[in-house]
Amino acid sequence: MSTPNAPSGIGKAIRHLDLDYHDLPPSPAPSSPSNGRKYALATELVYTEGSDQYNASSVPIYQSATFKGGPGQEYDYTRSGNPTRTHLERHMAKIMNANRALVVVTGDDLYGGTNRLLTYLRENGGIIVKHVDTTRLENVKATLSEKTTMVLLETPTNPLIKIVDIAGISTAAHEANPECVVAVDNTMMSPYLQNPLDLGADVTYESGTKYLSGHHDVMAGVIGINSVALGDKFYFMINSTGCGLAPFDSWLLLRGVKTLAVRMEKQQANAMAIAQFLEGHGFKVRYPGLKSHSQYALHQSQARGAGAVLSFETGSIPLSERIVECTKLFGISVSFGCVNSLISMPCRMSHASIDPATRKERALPEDIIRLCVGIEDLGDLVDDLSQALVRAGAVRLTSNGFQALSAEETAGESGRTRQVVDEP
Ligand SMILES: *Cc1c(COP(=O)(O)O)cnc(C)c1O
Repeated sequence: MSTPNAPSGIGKAIRHLDLDYHDLPPSPAPSSPSNGRKYALATELVYTEGSDQYNASSVPIYQSATFKGGPGQEYDYTRSGNPTRTHLERHMAKIMNANRALVVVTGDDLYGGTNRLLTYLRENGGIIVKHVDTTRLENVKATLSEKTTMVLLETPTNPLIKIVDIAGISTAAHEANPECVVAVDNTMMSPYLQNPLDLGADVTYESGTKYLSGHHDVMAGVIGINSVALGDKFYFMINSTGCGLAPFDSWLLLRGVKTLAVRMEKQQANAMAIAQFLEGHGFKVRYPGLKSHSQYALHQSQARGAGAVLSFETGSIPLSERIVECTKLFGISVSFGCVNSLISMPCRMSHASIDPATRKERALPEDIIRLCVGIEDLGDLVDDLSQALVRAGAVRLTSNGFQALSAEETAGESGRTRQVVDEP
């Protein structure tokens, strides 16, 4: 990028220039002009201002690889910087409480992808990777040393919905090695519900494919950082490998994120009701919004909501399979965070690549069903689940509502699956 002939000491102090010296108006606005109070996140999500010559209400897609002019101009080559992407990055930085956000293209499945990458780095990059149960602070502390260069966390985890103490681990990691980078995958929560940088993490990253975009029509990732030096390192990688997000994808993500607040509010309200519905029928439900969750208090202390992903166990793999096949509104699909409700069996789908021994080691139940709740009408969603539970043979409809079937009764239901599914 042909920009850094900017004065020294420049940065967030000068409001109209971002860290890359792009002269854009603040986006979104930092505070209400009438009372000086900081705008709430729901307002900031929607509010964007562009510097487009025609005052376009929607940020234009600068579908251009190059920009004419010469040295010293804001943009020259889209790999290094593009106005649509910059606008998105500034918007995201604000929302993530970061000084800088970078948007990149991501791989297909981080869970498997991260493991693959870590295995590769272990074998080829001379990096020692230690997997520990990060829900126990003592475990993490026992593993940390001055040689620990990064701690990689995810909370809540998926699909076991385990909660990790971001602040506690960040403090411990920085005590062990002040240079240690604590990175948090915030995909399950989104910046609307959780801000790892405010809890002491150095890097927060998340899949833009999920809640941020909300419609499963774009693949992207966002990295939020406060340290200028760390931001420069990430930018170097993005510029040299060319994985910066394309203008059209930047535009899609920018459009999607405006409705993050309304989508998330509706999705988690639906999720809470469904979690209570399932728990009420005797299923073992994992959802951080339920008081029965063993780490309910920890989650509440670091997040503003429980999100919209939950999982439950039925006690029988064939029964779980039948329930998944019998839902209609819940689409059978990997991924989550879109406006439509989804259902899956992680051991058969998203986590199938993890070998069964490892799944067992991580106590991932083979019958676990994951629900990613969307914005549909709650009554219709509960109805859909109810009929699936009845048709799959998990519950029986009685005059007082539903009644759970015993293990022997449900075992007798297997083999009926296709017949049930084929019913009109
Ligand atoms: C989906 C997912 C990712 C990967 O994101 P993609 O956009 O699919 O590359 C990373 N972390 C978590 C927790 C995810 O669920």
